[in-house]
Amino acid sequence: DTALVWFRRDLRLADLPTLHTVAEAGARALGLFVLDDRLLGAAGGPRRDFLFRSLSALDDQLGGRLLVVRGNPAELVPAVAEAVSAGEVHVSADFGPYGRERDAAVAEDIGLVATGSPYAVAPGRVTKGDGEPYRVFTPYFRQWIDHGWRAPIDTGAATVDWIEPDDVTVRRAVIPEPESEGVAAGESEALRRWTEFLENELDSYDDARNRPDLDATSRMSVYLKYGNIHPRTMLRDLSRRRGKGAEAYRRQLAWRDFYADILFQRPDSARGNYDRKFDAIRLDSGADADEVFAAWCEGRTGFPIVDAGMRQLRAEAWMHNRVRMIVASFLVKDLHLPWWRGARFFMNRLVDGDLANNQHGWQWTAGTGTDPSPYFRVFNPITQGEKFDPDGSYVRKWVPELRGIPGRAVHSLKALRPEGYPEPIVDHGLERQEALARYGEIKAL
Ligand code: FAD
Repeated sequence: DTALVWFRRDLRLADLPTLHTVAEAGARALGLFVLDDRLLGAAGGPRRDFLFRSLSALDDQLGGRLLVVRGNPAELVPAVAEAVSAGEVHVSADFGPYGRERDAAVAEDIGLVATGSPYAVAPGRVTKGDGEPYRVFTPYFRQWIDHGWRAPIDTGAATVDWIEPDDVTVRRAVIPEPESEGVAAGESEALRRWTEFLENELDSYDDARNRPDLDATSRMSVYLKYGNIHPRTMLRDLSRRRGKGAEAYRRQLAWRDFYADILFQRPDSARGNYDRKFDAIRLDSGADADEVFAAWCEGRTGFPIVDAGMRQLRAEAWMHNRVRMIVASFLVKDLHLPWWRGARFFMNRLVDGDLANNQHGWQWTAGTGTDPSPYFRVFNPITQGEKFDPDGSYVRKWVPELRGIPGRAVHSLKALRPEGYPEPIVDHGLERQEALARYGEIKAL
């Protein structure tokens, strides 16, 4: 018997529940990846490149035996199954809106056996006593801890007997070359970075994680996104460590599961407000809106921390979480633009772009989501900068025009603006009042 293992966003071999199932059945296996143009088109360059690198790493681990095809999974997956006489296809469950639709279409022609998911606790598992989903993080988190997860399982390349794809009569595709340099991908890179973080940064994570100047976070988001590592492996390692760092990190991993759960319960929240009452909020559009949006995208708003964040995004395809919140708040509350406009730009530019985390990170900031930051909380980009980048080094790193200004003065720019650096595109005090007025109209509804 040959088992077909269809990889999607689980590009690793260790702790891969799918492989465990296949190994237990004693089957020989064929590994398959489908380059799906709909997903590739939506991904943006950095994510596509990371995916291609991950695929090459996986193919190496399989001794060049990964079958890669390109096209519509609903046609190709059943065709490959038939070509190798596999009666069913093994996957890890995908809970995203597109993944669910795609899998339903594939399952019309061939049985899908889902073992495990990309989460410690899969969406739909943690519910209130009456079976209703949680809408607020803290009670979800308590229940998530109580629910628990199983220990990582020992799988790996040697667990199953991988067959050569050469004899399979389908048209093979090559893994495309990445277009640019970027983060190193694959399972061994994920483990290397994780070990490095555990050794050097975990202990100070709780204190330092809000400081973009210290670069003290794990940068594991992209490895989690593509399943180069499973969060259970990380949770096992964290459970062996004491202290506030491990606790704080575990909580962040729970946010990831929480947002996946919310998106699973409410797939429509990927495109619109989770809290529909905000559909009525007044938003700006037209030529002026396009102009300030362009300034935001390009990091020339004249607000140093905002510009630094947007330039980090352009340079690294990644941005520090605190700065993501600051630039998102600026787009929504200072520029009065729809959160989904910024979210779309992020999804296109971020290497770790993830629909659940991104759309709900944005909605948290906009105050339209579950568990939102209260609508009247408007981040002040100057004081946020002074607080979280206290000596200004993050700003100076990313905004060369400001390198001549020492210390925290770089945030307020009360002094003369250096040549080439723009005047602020808005008056924060006025726009704050405007945002409060617009949100106030909704509150009064
Ligand atoms: P660490 O601080 O080391 O966190 C460890 C892991 O916990 C992360 O890798 C991530 O998987 C998870 N995590 C941490 N914070 C959050 C959070 N707030 N929500 C959900 N999971 C979290 N994260 C993404 O993975 N993809 C996105 O597209 C994304 N878009 C965001 C957009 C906005 C507006 C905001 C405010 C946040 C967004 N986040 C997103 C969450 C967070 O910013 C990133 O997960 C984090 O910055 C990644 O860096 P890290 O791995 O070094 O984080």
